[in-house]
Amino acid sequence: MTTLDDLPIRDDLRGRTPYGAPQLDVPVRLNTNENSYPVPEPVVEAIGKALAAELRDLNRYPDRDAVALRADLAAYLGHGLTVDRIWAANGSNEIQQQLLQAFGGPGRTALGFTPAYSMHPLLALGTGTGWIRAVRGVDFGLTADEAVAQVRAHRPDVVFLCSPNNPTGTALDPAVVAAVLAEAPGMVIVDEAYAEFARPGTVSALAVLPDHPRLVVTRTMSKAFGFAGGRLGYLAADPAVVQAVQLVRLPYHLSALTQAAARAALAHRDALLGTVTAIMAQRDRIVAELRARGHRVADSDANFVLFEVGGDQATAWHTLLDAGVLVRDVGLPGWLRVTAGTPAETDAFLAAMEKLPS
Ligand SMILES: *Cc1c(COP(=O)(O)O)cnc(C)c1O
Repeated sequence: MTTLDDLPIRDDLRGRTPYGAPQLDVPVRLNTNENSYPVPEPVVEAIGKALAAELRDLNRYPDRDAVALRADLAAYLGHGLTVDRIWAANGSNEIQQQLLQAFGGPGRTALGFTPAYSMHPLLALGTGTGWIRAVRGVDFGLTADEAVAQVRAHRPDVVFLCSPNNPTGTALDPAVVAAVLAEAPGMVIVDEAYAEFARPGTVSALAVLPDHPRLVVTRTMSKAFGFAGGRLGYLAADPAVVQAVQLVRLPYHLSALTQAAARAALAHRDALLGTVTAIMAQRDRIVAELRARGHRVADSDANFVLFEVGGDQATAWHTLLDAGVLVRDVGLPGWLRVTAGTPAETDAFLAAMEKLPS
């Protein structure tokens, strides 16, 4: 049998394992920060109609530049954004891959503040971009001084910021974004996958886009919109950044079906985003309840909560799984991450937590 090692694979890919959040068939799945609520029936019907309308024309390539969808996304984001400042792809993962293809690559580096989203270093690896593992400070926070010192030391071509940060959950102080923008010699990507769940008063980096041509804000329909299976992510940036990713994107990367489904979903955004308030209430309930039980818990502006288990997290992860609740072991010693879903899922999670040794 041929193994990977027998193939003339790139040296930098040898011995690597693929991204692999377990997709296990358990009653309560709270491990990938999906929206637990299914797509509402009227939206299912609208998406079905939109897809049906495309079928006859599938002999033709789709709009390469997805202009109508990008205009809809600009209208959703507000901030005076226009279609030339928006780009869309199959998930914000593909957006970030395209950004690294354009601004990273062999001989260049990208830097992120760990613990953060595990896909950022994997996207760097796949695009041949050197990865610089910078660190967060006390209680997983990140101050402007800590961020600037590490950017100054490494002078990366791309800086990843994540706000609200995955897996810790807390949004960044806008002063950190401003300080990094002032110091960074290259592009600054602010991954705002969870922006819709942020606590009141949280400021999006979208607000400072007009002043910063090297700033890119990435967003996704995978979380708040409950559209993870639809695969639609996007960015907002200077029009020149959109022109840069158009140099590296595959032609027709976004299928006619994806574009139509995403447009129908956006047209029903009130129905889809209607679950956000309920999810935020479960998030706040998990934080409060775990703190009341004596756990250390990170502040969360997202639809998940990072909590200390009081012992080995891999053992705790198995205990919760045995109780029918799948959470995420992000490899942080002593900590686990749980997605906030429905009230019943929170009940099941909190009940399963009673099984951990105290
Ligand atoms: C879930 C998540 C995404 C979403 O990726 P998609 O490709 O849009 O599904 C992006 N960034 C972070 C930090 C995430 O946690």
